[in-house]
Amino acid sequence: MALIVQKFGGTSVATTERIKNVAKRVARWKAQGHDIIVVPSAMSGETNRLIGLAKEISASPNPRELDVIASTGEQVTIALLAMAMQELGLKAKSYTGPQVRVLTDSTFTKARILQIDDARIRKDLASGHVVVVAGFQGADGHGNITTLGRGGSDTSAVALAAALKADECQIYTDVDGVYTTDPRVVPEARKLDTITFEEMLEMASLGSKVLQIRSVEFAGKYKVKLRVLSSFEDEGEGTLITVEEDNNMEQPIISGIAFNRDEAKVTILGVPDRPGVAYQILGPIADANCDVDMIIQNVAHDGTTDFSFTVNRSDYSKTMELLNGIATKLNARGVVGDNKTCKVSAVGVGMRSHPGVASKMFKELGAEGINIQMISTSEIKISVVIEEKYLELAVRVLHKAFGLDKPA
Ligand code: ASP
Ligand code: MG
Repeated sequence: MALIVQKFGGTSVATTERIKNVAKRVARWKAQGHDIIVVPSAMSGETNRLIGLAKEISASPNPRELDVIASTGEQVTIALLAMAMQELGLKAKSYTGPQVRVLTDSTFTKARILQIDDARIRKDLASGHVVVVAGFQGADGHGNITTLGRGGSDTSAVALAAALKADECQIYTDVDGVYTTDPRVVPEARKLDTITFEEMLEMASLGSKVLQIRSVEFAGKYKVKLRVLSSFEDEGEGTLITVEEDNNMEQPIISGIAFNRDEAKVTILGVPDRPGVAYQILGPIADANCDVDMIIQNVAHDGTTDFSFTVNRSDYSKTMELLNGIATKLNARGVVGDNKTCKVSAVGVGMRSHPGVASKMFKELGAEGINIQMISTSEIKISVVIEEKYLELAVRVLHKAFGLDKPA
């Protein structure tokens, strides 16, 4: 007998029919003698609808009130799920985040979980209940309702699994696991049986949308056994996110190709090459909450240099505006920008022990006539910024070049 946390995403609970199916699925696990905690998202589209309502009232809604409304989506699904299980003869009880108490900080709309009180849940599990806990939400020290950021119910599930020392945290979603790349771009993409936390973290932050990044960080930190599975297929082991690289197996050098369309590149030309300038450029950008990703500063000529970085495309116009002001202040030569760029990355822990991955990647892109505008690397990933129109081509070429289309 095990303690299992099962998280169901929005598409898995999108209709009452699907909610009944989830209940049946949970019932089968329960029948095997396991203790189950279920963490649903809101019905798909519901959180968007709720935030949309708020935006009809106010262009920038008060964050505290926004959390009060956004958290209601999950309150609906926990009750419906508990009822559906009761209809099947199971004992089930639902709780909102604040009821449990999932204690968070007070950063409305992207709060962090500080602590989870497991007393009520343990008591209910001991008396044979399936416990249904609303994802995405908690309460701060003053009892204010908070939410954990979009996609946050993944993090709720992992945090509950960590707090209760669950044997496994299963994330049921509309894909049956983590793939070598997005199958919509490369039909030959394969499901991975395992992927390490580090790789998953890179994949998530590089644009793979399977799991909320924070949930992966959390699982890595607390060593939660995390598995991604399909909520529509009964068969299959999904993808297990593992703590250690499995040394017994021949490790693939590259595990996946990730991409992100939402990159925009900006350059401030001819800034003075002296201490403090990078801060003078990026300080105001950070203060405006624009997320900076890759940064490149060129070699200086005549005491000046070009300074380029990428931001999320939605922050592009704000960044350009700020940068124009900064350029004037720094007496720079000008500002140029391009919001038709994207980022393609190769990820794999095997890179550590295999040199030559970067050169292979650059060779393949060069052979296709794809110009690389920026490069950044870490121990286990290589990312390039390229023109957006080459995104699909680049992903396909790299997926093939690194042998990801063939079974390992
Ligand atoms: N319902 C929330 C959202 O749409 C949380 C989640 O689904 O994970 O972002
Ligand atoms: Mg989600």
